[in-house]
Amino acid sequence: MENRDDLVDYINRTLDAVSIADYCPNGLQVEGKEQIGHLVTGVTASERFLHQAIEAGADAVLVHHGYFWKGESPVLTGMKLARIRLLLNAGISLLAYHLPLDVHERFGNNAQLARMLGLIVEGRAAAGGTDGLLFHGRLENAVGGTAFIEHVTQQLGRNVTAVGEIDKPIKRVAWCSGGAQRFLLQAAELGVDAFISGEISEQTTHEARENGLLYLSAGHHATERYGVQALGEYLSGQLQLTHQFIDVDNPA
Ligand SMILES: [Zn+2]
Repeated sequence: MENRDDLVDYINRTLDAVSIADYCPNGLQVEGKEQIGHLVTGVTASERFLHQAIEAGADAVLVHHGYFWKGESPVLTGMKLARIRLLLNAGISLLAYHLPLDVHERFGNNAQLARMLGLIVEGRAAAGGTDGLLFHGRLENAVGGTAFIEHVTQQLGRNVTAVGEIDKPIKRVAWCSGGAQRFLLQAAELGVDAFISGEISEQTTHEARENGLLYLSAGHHATERYGVQALGEYLSGQLQLTHQFIDVDNPA
């Protein structure tokens, strides 16, 4: 068992969470029971995820997408109330880390995506006002575009939407998990052959074509599954708690 507040402090320090400006509060978002023995991690604190976490005996849940986003209505009604009521009734704490869990050089989604895809990290550029958010690096050996698309599809276990220069050899790559397609032009300036993110907009296709690079939309959910999982595994190795990752499939 771990004390809830000690656990939150420990994660805050591990991720250096207070130093990163964000669109939501990072850390403890909903306070539950004081002692935490079983930690369940997931991408998003959706109702479906919470039901499964309760069933799994969670004392706390740790997610990438929590609640209380900047600009959203502050009132507790509808689906937000239903989610929070589930947490309160079960006495489960909600811990959420957004950008700190994208940028972290070991536990971040981008670092974990590099591990999954065999990408060698060479640098990290500031993007959207966050230092080190846009990762770039290279493959050990250049591969054809089609082979690269196949590789990413295999590693992430889902279909990938590919636009732009499909056939060019790929060596240098930039990547940023989630809905980061808006950083494509910045990635192009880095001189990469391919850019990977989670989503695609209408203009992304034209930007990829007109900048001569391959763009892969590999899934917002799929590209953000690995950071929180790696952090949960690390915590269960360091602290007196058990960890379980629950994946609630999401094709987006
Ligand atoms: Zn996200």
